[in-house]
Amino acid sequence: MGLIVQKFGGSSVADTDKLKKVSEKIINEKKSGNDIVVVVSAQGKTTDRLISEEREVTDNPSKREHDVLVSTGEQITIAKLAMMLHDFGYKAVSLTGWQIPIITNSEFGNSRIRYIHNETILDLLASDNIVIVAGFQGVDENYNITTFGRGGSDTTAVALATSLKAERCDIYTDVDGIFTVDPRIVKNAKKINNICYEEMLEMASLGAKVLHNRCVEIAQKYNVPIYVKSTFEKDSIGTKVSNQKPLEDLVINGVAKDDNISRITIVGLENKIGKTYELFKLLSDNNINIDIIVQAFGETSMKNITFTVKMTDLNRTLKILNKNKDKLNAKEILHAENLSKVSIVGVGIANKPGVAADMFEALYEKNINMHMITTSEIKISVLVNIEDANIAVNAIHEKFFK
Ligand code: ASP
Ligand code: MG
Repeated sequence: MGLIVQKFGGSSVADTDKLKKVSEKIINEKKSGNDIVVVVSAQGKTTDRLISEEREVTDNPSKREHDVLVSTGEQITIAKLAMMLHDFGYKAVSLTGWQIPIITNSEFGNSRIRYIHNETILDLLASDNIVIVAGFQGVDENYNITTFGRGGSDTTAVALATSLKAERCDIYTDVDGIFTVDPRIVKNAKKINNICYEEMLEMASLGAKVLHNRCVEIAQKYNVPIYVKSTFEKDSIGTKVSNQKPLEDLVINGVAKDDNISRITIVGLENKIGKTYELFKLLSDNNINIDIIVQAFGETSMKNITFTVKMTDLNRTLKILNKNKDKLNAKEILHAENLSKVSIVGVGIANKPGVAADMFEALYEKNINMHMITTSEIKISVLVNIEDANIAVNAIHEKFFK
């Protein structure tokens, strides 16, 4: 008999009927003789609601109090679920992040797990309890509640699976696993049975929002298999995320899209050693995440640098750049908004000639202009206008997954 971590997302626990379905899933697993640790999210849109209520109170919330507030959603779910399991005749105990405790650093809203104390959970399991844990939260060394960032309950689940040496981590959600592309955009999306950590990390960071990126990083580091399954479909086999690379000669495993992109170009940056460093140091000091970077050389004494930031960081980035324009000796700062990044992902890309050409052909056939291209061993991304993005995703998917 082993230990299984089961995680149920917000849509799976949205109301009382759904909690009942979840209870059945938990009881089934318990009946097969395993020890069960369950991690849950806040019900439905509770976290969104808490954030909008916070905005009614202030435009400028303290980061510490923000975490105190948003962590409450999960606490409601764990209590209800434990009570329900009691009514079904099972022993169950709910635990918040700080009761375990899951020790994190003090970066409110985006804290990182340092250490998990297993003892409380292990004691409860030993006396036949199902342990129900509030996702997405921990506590720092000074007893402040911290949260892991939106979608962070996945990370709680995989971190617990790692720390408790679970056999596997089942992540239940409202879709039947990971798909080659978002089924809401492409009708013909195909379910992926197996995907390796590297590919999953790329898919997650590229905007396929099924799993929290950090949970995949942890799973990869400690080699914990994750099964993404549907809560509501019977006999869902879902997708296995593990270190297994596909045996078949699949070129790409998925197409992903991220709509939240803007592009900034610094024209006429002095072509001097250290200038590029100075620019990106400035941005990193201000906590701005840069994605794609392209440096192009103009006339001898100047270069242009283009990079992308999230739309939500655009205004802040432009403000910082304009303030430092003279210091950077930049001639001009240009920007383009409302772009999408469309990417293909697959460990087969590096060894297969012609993948990029196929992708560009799909775009050419639809007359879609690419604003920027970037490639890595297992990924090719292009920037397109947001209006073209869904057409691009469909065309590319069609090309590779006929
Ligand atoms: N409730 C949190 C959120 O909505 C964490 C999670 O669902 O994973 O982001
Ligand atoms: Mg989620």
